[in-house]
Amino acid sequence: MDFPTRFDVIVVGGGHAGTEAALAAARMGVKTLLLTHNIETLGQMSCNPAIGGIGKSHLVKEIDALDGAMALATDKAGIQFRTLNSRKGPAVRATRAQADRILYKAAIREMLENQPNLWLFQQSCEDLIVEQGAARGVITQSGIQFRAKTVVLTTGTFLGGIIHVGMQNYSGGRAGDPASLGLAEKLRALPFRIDRLKTGTPPRIDARSVDFSLMQAQPGDDITPVMSYMGNRSLHPQQINCFITHTNERTHDIIRAGMDRSPMYSGVIEGVGPRYCPSIEDKIVRFADKDSHQVFIEPEGLTTHELYPNGVSTSLPFDVQLDLIRSMKGMENAHITRPGYAIEYDYFNPQDLKYSLETKHMEGLFFAGQINGTTGYEEAGAQGLLAGMNAALQAQGKDSWTPRRDEAYLGVLVDDLITMGTKEPYRMFTSRAEYRLILREDNADIRLTEKGREVGLVSDERWAAFCEKREAIEKETQRMKTSWIVPNTPEAEAINPKLETPISHEYSLLDLLKRPGVEYSDVAHLKNAPETPVAEQVSEQVQISVKYAGYIARQADDIERMRRQENTVLPADLDYTAIDGLSNEVKQKLQEARPESLAAASRIQGVTPAAVSLLLVHLKKRA
Ligand code: FAD
Repeated sequence: MDFPTRFDVIVVGGGHAGTEAALAAARMGVKTLLLTHNIETLGQMSCNPAIGGIGKSHLVKEIDALDGAMALATDKAGIQFRTLNSRKGPAVRATRAQADRILYKAAIREMLENQPNLWLFQQSCEDLIVEQGAARGVITQSGIQFRAKTVVLTTGTFLGGIIHVGMQNYSGGRAGDPASLGLAEKLRALPFRIDRLKTGTPPRIDARSVDFSLMQAQPGDDITPVMSYMGNRSLHPQQINCFITHTNERTHDIIRAGMDRSPMYSGVIEGVGPRYCPSIEDKIVRFADKDSHQVFIEPEGLTTHELYPNGVSTSLPFDVQLDLIRSMKGMENAHITRPGYAIEYDYFNPQDLKYSLETKHMEGLFFAGQINGTTGYEEAGAQGLLAGMNAALQAQGKDSWTPRRDEAYLGVLVDDLITMGTKEPYRMFTSRAEYRLILREDNADIRLTEKGREVGLVSDERWAAFCEKREAIEKETQRMKTSWIVPNTPEAEAINPKLETPISHEYSLLDLLKRPGVEYSDVAHLKNAPETPVAEQVSEQVQISVKYAGYIARQADDIERMRRQENTVLPADLDYTAIDGLSNEVKQKLQEARPESLAAASRIQGVTPAAVSLLLVHLKKRA
């Protein structure tokens, strides 16, 4: 048969993990197959039509720094962009984009179809080909055998998926798609630790049935942020508003009255749901004292009337859903186009993975995305890229690579999953990273693009743009370091009003920029200004590296120290209960285990790297 059935890497699943995995492997030059249920759903957003947000945009920018697809697709599909935490420091600043789900899917599909070394095939994967304990290919629903050196599974919420609406439930991978049952059964026979998780989604609403005049409009930023380092504002489609409404006492009464038919509260659903993205019934129970919750009304796209009411994810029966939606201001006549639902699915204990995301029990088999117990497109995409890259490296006979916790949020994500496992859907937050000032969303390219280039992920075009940016930062820093402002000159007069004390002696532009309240734009033009102003991405880096130099240097020292002191001895008489900042759970575990060294402490489940940092600080104080 003249049909390609031998590959280097096979990726199963065309969601956010699978598409990044397949693109990454193919970019590295290995022959790659993306096998998925349905080519029409490549890059489909199963839930909210948004990319980014706090902690998550850091991952998107890291994917982008390694030449992945998510950020560029977002720039092509984003219909509302905002910078979150814009008044806070750069470490926790985040970009969020409301995406047109049709444009997003189209952008991902275009990248996949134009990617050299990548073959697409639509069919369900039903089994693995295993030879001498190693994954060497897959078998599809119609019995086609595809062989490869490595296989990446990114099956999302589909393994053994059960959809719940009220007390009714049925098999499904997400609404409108079949579950993956055959593969789930085969995988359950392997020696992996498997459990069940649950996630949910709200009903969708027809915008023509909504009175927006009763809601508060929420526009995007005036100066639209850009997601990709290679993107620009001209890629953005038309920008539109979101809206805000609220639940009220009546909404809560309706929910409480329907609780006896809630699959979550009647014990029908066993899987644990995402703590940070609770269903509306969960919120009513957990925050019983609150009489209102905010609901963001988000358009699903420019060419559809469908709206996503963010904040009312639910698996209550349909009649309760309809009443609760119609109890909110502006929604009195709302027409539901799709009911909300919850889905339960199999996930694998990520502690059975190596840092490369290869499974410990089966050589050549990699897992990425929701299958590893995470939730979110960004978490899935980041893992997908990593798994695809490492599957390609293995196929090339090369060593794997995973960023460390001090190099990337991706490093934090993988390390958290592997060392601690997860009992509930894991999502990223900036608080999970202990080196936040170094892991900013604005410098993901500086942290990762060079490594990406080394392993073959980064294209010539991106590499050239990156090198140019890096040189421009260096050149601009040098210019500002060597351009002097002298007292009693027009330049000094121009900047004095911004300063607490006027210039009394010669200052470089860089010194002036260090002063509180002084921005790059206040000083950059004062002396030896380049003919064409430097790009925003360049001036931003110059400003951050100057303003936060002290903190960044301190954090770099911490990282160095942490590496050196990995084997620091913990005194046998240490009273862990007296250490400030440790959670009670960690105190109790350390008190019981009494580890001999810091390294041993860090291996205890539940003792986070942040807790290890606190131990280190405590030891220093004791010394
Ligand atoms: P998916 O996007 O699920 O993609 C899996 C892909 O694998 C699909 O293309 C599927 O067709 C394919 N596939 C599966 N099995 C096979 C097989 N055997 N053969 C071939 N192809 C196969 N995330 C949030 O951040 N917040 C939320 O509130 C949220 N709510 C959600 C609610 C619901 C109902 C669902 C379904 C998901 C929700 N998510 C939410 C999660 C988000 O959709 C996922 O985290 C993300 O899509 C995971 O990406 P993935 O690539 O791992 O899997």
